[in-house]
Amino acid sequence: MSHIIHRSLRQTPPHAVSASGITVVDSAGRAYLDASGGAAVSSLGHGHPDVLAAMHRQIDRCAYAHTAFFTTDVAEELAETLVARAPAGIDAVYLVSGGSEAMETALKLARQYFVEGGDERRSVFIARRQSYHGNTLGALAVGGNEWRRKPFAPLLMQVPRVAPCYAYRDRRDSQSVDEYTAALLDELETAIIKAGPDKVIGFVAEPVVGATGGAIPPTPGYFKGVRALCDRYGILFIADEVMCGMGRTGTMFAIEQDGVAPDIVAVAKGLGAGYQPVGAVLAQGAIVERLRHGSGSFLHGHTCIGHPVAAAAALAVQRVIARDGLLAQVQQRGATLKRMLGNVFGKHEHVGDIRGRGLLLGIELVQDRATKEPFAPERKLHAAIKQEAMARGLMVYPMGGTIDGRRGDHVLLAPPFIVTASE
Ligand code: PLP
Repeated sequence: MSHIIHRSLRQTPPHAVSASGITVVDSAGRAYLDASGGAAVSSLGHGHPDVLAAMHRQIDRCAYAHTAFFTTDVAEELAETLVARAPAGIDAVYLVSGGSEAMETALKLARQYFVEGGDERRSVFIARRQSYHGNTLGALAVGGNEWRRKPFAPLLMQVPRVAPCYAYRDRRDSQSVDEYTAALLDELETAIIKAGPDKVIGFVAEPVVGATGGAIPPTPGYFKGVRALCDRYGILFIADEVMCGMGRTGTMFAIEQDGVAPDIVAVAKGLGAGYQPVGAVLAQGAIVERLRHGSGSFLHGHTCIGHPVAAAAALAVQRVIARDGLLAQVQQRGATLKRMLGNVFGKHEHVGDIRGRGLLLGIELVQDRATKEPFAPERKLHAAIKQEAMARGLMVYPMGGTIDGRRGDHVLLAPPFIVTASE
């Protein structure tokens, strides 16, 4: 029996012993095609020589330097690179070790921004029911995943939640896409007014919903509307791009395609592409300026923030994406994969929807295509799919159960950007 607290305490997963390109090999010699990049992490595939070389160089030079004493060239350069590629006005970067930590940091930065402006009354985050923002207490509280929250509910802050932008399920036949979008924005505005606009810190959302929805992109104009509401009521728009960011959707940030700039963006997963645990929070210059001219510091910090080897890996990932034109490749291969999925599964009786952006694609499974009736949760379809896929040497990322009070099953595909058409 393993001494590790694995995700399942009843089963020990296979031991991964080697990995290269888009293949992972276990100790029994079985190869798995990594069609999900783990959980949308491995954007450059496994064993990328440039990233490994950059990490080795940094390890030889300086493997660790605590940020209370030092900064490093790699961390500075990474921040500069991210800012140069970020939406308008983003000017500051806080480097952390993962997605939950990035979201936790984003929430605290947003709160401190208002506190330093003398506005201590603000304590409310509004989020969406269909969302995942991480497993630490703050991130879990804003997330919409009820079954994850339930055992910890007494420890969590109260978060008003609004409907996700999930046209496949929620748009009525009698509604145009614009009418549906307008109704969602009305609901958000009502939630802001109900919470009290002077109490709200910000609205938190994934530009493309990942794990809880299977790659659900917003309707056109939705985030422009969100931005306008946040501006009208003086609240922050916090974009969680932990899964959909860093090129995964074919632009460095998914929200670029919606034509708006958030106040704060959290990224992780594809930032280190799995080579190192690393995440980042990017913020509008004005937010950090207020702290700079106020208390002079962000009241936060973990031991491994700005880790030099993690920064070196992330910087190398950024360089490879730019040098090899991988954003264009994601757009092109994403379109190919979506078309292929449509050809193979488009008419399948249990496939309700095939959707996504770039190489973040989802297949929604339904009992009945016409009524969109989901499968019964007792069938644990997602677990069966994962098991069957692994048995056939394929990694996909199925999710199911009850999310946003509703049943649903989907399979998320997020292959490395280097995937070929034949793979
Ligand atoms: N936010 C989103 C959108 C995610 O998809 C995830 C992880 O799946 C997280 C936050 C949490 O990231 P991590 O698992 O690195 O803590």
